[in-house]
Amino acid sequence: IIQVKNLSISFGDKQVLNNVSFNVKKGDTLGIVGESGSGKSLTSLAVMGLLSPAAKINPESEILFRLQDEMVDLLKLSPKELEKIRGNEMGMIFQEPMTSLNPSLRCGEQVEEAIKLHLKLPKSQLKKEVISLFEQVKLPNPERIYKAYPHELSGGQKQRVMIAMAISCKPKLLIADEPTTALDVTVQKATLDLLKELQEKNGMSMLFISHDLGVIANVCEEVLVMFRGDVVEQGNVATIFNNPKENYTKGLIACRP
Ligand code: ATP
Ligand code: MG
Repeated sequence: IIQVKNLSISFGDKQVLNNVSFNVKKGDTLGIVGESGSGKSLTSLAVMGLLSPAAKINPESEILFRLQDEMVDLLKLSPKELEKIRGNEMGMIFQEPMTSLNPSLRCGEQVEEAIKLHLKLPKSQLKKEVISLFEQVKLPNPERIYKAYPHELSGGQKQRVMIAMAISCKPKLLIADEPTTALDVTVQKATLDLLKELQEKNGMSMLFISHDLGVIANVCEEVLVMFRGDVVEQGNVATIFNNPKENYTKGLIACRP
């Protein structure tokens, strides 16, 4: 569904991403693992077309996305065309719920806004759609959540509202950037289980980012190990987890809590 080729990004004269290449096939989940600052978020933001204007993408880079029968290079599209693809085909869950939830808007209204970007529905239908999304992400008492402000919810509940928002366009590709880092361990597990279930049910492809190889091993088949902007190792998660080739990967496994 997506094919990234030689993606390089720099800020000023400092190159922070070096020739990153990977594929995600339809229905598959690719994990990206690496310590802080290795370029995981930049990679996902580049795919979404959400990099800050200061980021310079090397002209040799390609981000090919499957639309019906053709692969289009997202880097060659106009902002308008890209926005359309993002709205209809992709969803993203960010690391920090509060950076993407608006504190002064009720949760129901926020998800309605997200739906309105790609679908014209009458008000009553819109609410039904939101409630159904809240049910899909297993939020207790969807009617209450609909009326609640983000600060009235627990961290795990906010994360589920975010997931509901991310899947509202029934995306073909879901990008999750450390979706469970801010949550405690039991809520983490439940959120991961939910993501896996939604992915299988909806046949989505997923790009799943985490600094914990154990979490990746739970969710993904394939993994990309990144270090300071380079891909150091790439392949089947179980193989890499049980038999890492690179010292950096061995270190990542050894220093897991
Ligand atoms: P973390 O695990 O902490 O989220 P990450 O792997 O997601 O880390 P990125 O956010 O992708 O890391 O950042 C990669 C590198 O790019 C870092 O060295 C960071 O300092 C640099 N960087 C990111 N955004 C900018 C920016 N707007 N201006 C300058 N440098 C940036
Ligand atoms: Mg990050």
